[in-house]
Amino acid sequence: VELKNNLKQAWWRAMVYDRDDVEGLDAAVLTHPQVLKYSGHEDTFSDPLIDCRDCKSRWRADHVESSRCPGCGSDNLTEPRPFNLMFKTGVGPVDDDSSFAYLRPETAQQIFTNFKNVLDSTSRQLPFGIAQIGKAFRNEITPRNFIFRVREFEQMELEFFVEPGTDEAWHEKWVQIRRDWWSSQGVDDSALELLHVPAGELAHYSKATVDLMYRFPHGLEELEGIANRTDFDLGSHTKNQSDLDISAAVLPNTESNAKLAVQNQQQKLWTVPYVIE
Ligand SMILES: [Zn+2]
Repeated sequence: VELKNNLKQAWWRAMVYDRDDVEGLDAAVLTHPQVLKYSGHEDTFSDPLIDCRDCKSRWRADHVESSRCPGCGSDNLTEPRPFNLMFKTGVGPVDDDSSFAYLRPETAQQIFTNFKNVLDSTSRQLPFGIAQIGKAFRNEITPRNFIFRVREFEQMELEFFVEPGTDEAWHEKWVQIRRDWWSSQGVDDSALELLHVPAGELAHYSKATVDLMYRFPHGLEELEGIANRTDFDLGSHTKNQSDLDISAAVLPNTESNAKLAVQNQQQKLWTVPYVIE
């Protein structure tokens, strides 16, 4: 607990207090399904699972090698099936399927859906960031590996909003800032490694992702990822999508009532910012 609190405080100090261009946020855990529909989570946030018909155990497909059950060795296995990783809970007095919320699977989405609130109350200009620390929940089918795969955990996330075109430079800059931060916490820089995620393995929202890896005694593991999320997030959650020049492939959103864009003071043009996370 003390180690985690120290880490959170050091992160908040460096990301929010020591920077003039970052606001802090503490948003809701309960998340409207529409938010996670437009974010792509309802479609993509799942693990393919395989059941063993003999010993009734369930495995992540990427943990099953050579079509054999890791538990009993049987080859009597089901085809992989997607398993939704998000927790649901009923909202309101009647427990039916029409009124539910998700427990947020990440803190990032509330940063995007609160973008206009922050903008309206602070008059920020690009570039600026919004940081949040809080609980996130994932219904992991096989929680294991110490704290690397658990159902309830805390995230520290910064979404940094930039002008399109400056995103690649800001991405590089943030990779360096984050590496330097870990060094400043006493982490041996020679134990850190940058992993440039190959194009074929990028998440659906990402133009580029660099994982900051640490050489633990048991092997190389990710400390954090720094991603160029383009205009996917604000573009997904904004209203009037067709009036805005959104470059990412987003779901058509007719339900949003917030314009998640910034207006340039000189030319009066509206821009959907790119995001470095
Ligand atoms: Zn089995």
